[in-house]
Amino acid sequence: MILVLSQPLFSSLSLSNALLDNLTSLGYTAMTEIQAQTLPKILAGKDLIGQGKTGSGKTAAFSLGLLHNLNVKRFRVQALVVCPTRELADQVAVEIRKLARAIHNIKVLALCGGAPMGPQIGSLEHGAHIVVGTPGRIEEHLRKGRLSLEEVNTFVLDEADRMLEMGFEDAIKCILEHCPTKRQNLLFSATYPPRIEQLAKHIMQNAEKVTVEATH
Ligand code: ADP
Ligand code: MG
Repeated sequence: MILVLSQPLFSSLSLSNALLDNLTSLGYTAMTEIQAQTLPKILAGKDLIGQGKTGSGKTAAFSLGLLHNLNVKRFRVQALVVCPTRELADQVAVEIRKLARAIHNIKVLALCGGAPMGPQIGSLEHGAHIVVGTPGRIEEHLRKGRLSLEEVNTFVLDEADRMLEMGFEDAIKCILEHCPTKRQNLLFSATYPPRIEQLAKHIMQNAEKVTVEATH
C-alpha cells in the first residue's frame, strides 16, 4: 500500500478564483510545505520571515502574497521584490508573470544591473505594477528620480542571506527609505544567521518566522 501524505491545497486559501484557476492550469494544486505554512499568514497581511532550502517554493509564496495585495486598476508600483542577482530577479519576474496570467494588463518590470539602461528608462516612463530587481540598479533609478515607491504595499527581500554576502545591506536600507512605512514585509532566506536577524529587525517589527527544515 502506498501512503500518500495529503498536502493542503491552494483552493483552501482566500485567493481569487482567477488566481486559483490559473494555479490549476500551471499544475500547482497542492502547496509545498513552506507555502502551506506561510501563505495563510501572508494573505492575512502579516510581516513574515520564511526560511527554507532552495527549491522549496518560496517564490510562489511571496508572489501570491503580493498579487493578493495588488490593485490592477491603479497603475503604480505597488510591490517591490529585491533579489541579489540578475539571474534570480529574471527568474522571479518570469514566475510572477506566470502566476499573474489570470490578471489582465498587469505589468511586471525587471530592473537589473548589467542590463542596458535605455529600455529600463523607457519602461519606467510607461509605468508598472510590480518591480523586481537588484539593489544597485533600483537605487540608481531612485536617485535619478525615475522610480517612485511611494505606493508600495508589499516589500519582498528574496535570498536575504546572499544579499548580505554580496554587501547589499546599505542599498537595501536606502531603498526602504523610499517606501511607505506602512507596508507588508516578506523576507525569504535559505539560512538565518544573526546578521539576517538584525536586518530583519531593521525592516520590520513583530514578524512571524516560519522555518521549514531540509528534507533528505
Ligand atoms: P525556492 O525559491 O524556494 O528556491 P522556487 O520558488 O524557485 O524555490 O520553486 C522551485 C520550483 O518549484 C519552481 O520550478 C516552481 O515552479 C515549482 N513549484 C513551486 N511551488 C509549486 C507547487 N505548489 N506545485 C508545483 N510546483 C511548484
Ligand atoms: Mg528562491
